[in-house]
Amino acid sequence: MNNIRVAPNFVLKEFECKDGSHQVVLYSKLLEKLQKLRDLLKQPVIINSGYRNPEHNKKVGGAPGSLHLKGMAADIVVRSISPARLAEKAREVGFDKVIVYASHVHVEVRQ
Ligand SMILES: [Zn+2]
Repeated sequence: MNNIRVAPNFVLKEFECKDGSHQVVLYSKLLEKLQKLRDLLKQPVIINSGYRNPEHNKKVGGAPGSLHLKGMAADIVVRSISPARLAEKAREVGFDKVIVYASHVHVEVRQ
């Protein structure tokens, strides 16, 4: 399900809500920036969390107005790159907001 290629290096499935519902919302600008980042790094960008429906967002402790609810945010990891370094690169490709966590980087876009 959702095994649809939406960019050269991403399939829609990767952005699905992680509650097993297969629900997904993906804002085009988020995908564009992620592909740009992938092209810059030449390494797989792993989507730890993409779209979240309201129930799942609550369950994982997401903020009530989280852009994960709109398909405009993703939590990402690149295996060989530290979150701090990955955040620098994410800012370089123009994400509107980048937050560094110990285990991942949160990136988001605005309308
Ligand atoms: Zn996030």
